[in-house]
Amino acid sequence: MSKSKVGINRILNFGAGPGKIPVAVLAEVRNEFLNFENTGMSITEISHRSSEYSKINNEAQNAVKQLLSVPDNYKILFLPGGGQGMFSAIAMNLMNRTGSADYVVAGIWSGLAAKEAAKYGTVNPVFPKPGKLGDIPDSKSWTLNPNASYLYYCDNETIEGIEFPFIPETRGSVPIVVDMASNIMTRKFDVSKFGLIFAPVQKNLGTAGVVLAIIRDDLLGTPMKICPSVLNFTELANTNSILNTPPIFQVYVTGKILQWINIQGGLKEMEKQCCQKSQLLYNAINQSNNFYECHVPENFRSRINVSFKIGGGNDNLEEKFVQEAEEHRIYQLRGHRLVGGIRVSLYNAVSYEDTETLVQFMKNFQAKYQNSIERHL
Ligand SMILES: *Cc1c(COP(=O)(O)O)cnc(C)c1O
Repeated sequence: MSKSKVGINRILNFGAGPGKIPVAVLAEVRNEFLNFENTGMSITEISHRSSEYSKINNEAQNAVKQLLSVPDNYKILFLPGGGQGMFSAIAMNLMNRTGSADYVVAGIWSGLAAKEAAKYGTVNPVFPKPGKLGDIPDSKSWTLNPNASYLYYCDNETIEGIEFPFIPETRGSVPIVVDMASNIMTRKFDVSKFGLIFAPVQKNLGTAGVVLAIIRDDLLGTPMKICPSVLNFTELANTNSILNTPPIFQVYVTGKILQWINIQGGLKEMEKQCCQKSQLLYNAINQSNNFYECHVPENFRSRINVSFKIGGGNDNLEEKFVQEAEEHRIYQLRGHRLVGGIRVSLYNAVSYEDTETLVQFMKNFQAKYQNSIERHL
């Protein structure tokens, strides 16, 4: 076994998910791992019916409630199945209300959610598929169904780096369901505008295996008969998310990350850092004379996942970029396999200094290769 201390030999991690976890949290998990709070057991050996787990579960819920000022008529749930499990769970729990749902398909994740939901009812895309990245028509022109069970959208499209600068409006009392996988806990927002908010935690809030969901009470109680109990929001709410053995370790880590956010100064501080880091990076891209190019329109650029091309989408150069970055201990920059290019994820655990180091590397890389591209043009 290695004797290396946590924090030593760690690289700069800009991965999109699983994302970076604050080193202070990792260290605390390590310190407690063999003997959790003097139980003589690891957190991974403790019963989910124990008072210890009950405390972990409640504290994590309370931290979410406090950070986001969740109103009392919402339940906070922990679910299995990841983000994609939720794509089905949402339809199975909520689509029965009217048999159809409106979907805002602005990127790959919302597209997959719509495809999954279509197995369970009628999916109405509120606008045609955008021809260009982030080419989202004005919300006034969306075709909204006043009888939709819900309106679904993804607040931050992790793969393309598209983030909504507004909360969509719905007709009448149609509730909004939102995927906040990659931008939950990067700013405060008005929870009461939503029927359901969800986030698999492995992007910005923990380790893979649990989904955080915040659901308005009145949306419980209408699942389809086929809905498995473990994905049934109503049964989970009634059992305080301890219907069966929950992902104890994952909820525990999420609880620690929520504490860490509080210690850093809460969501105000997360939002401030998130804007500073992304601005630094977008400025570097904008000032690169198109050596680096971000194709997302300015007002839809994500503060969390920054995607860009190099040298007009030059695969060789992009591969060199990834490799040379690794030589400088900067990792996980390759864009998603479906879109290519480079993607930098600026989750809460990524510091401004990490981002500065990356930007300096980008400037050096450009100075080194700019001429070789010009010769090719
Ligand atoms: C990663 C991601 C998902 C899918 O999450 P899994 O837990 O891998 O199923 C869904 N939506 C968004 C926005 C994501 O970033």
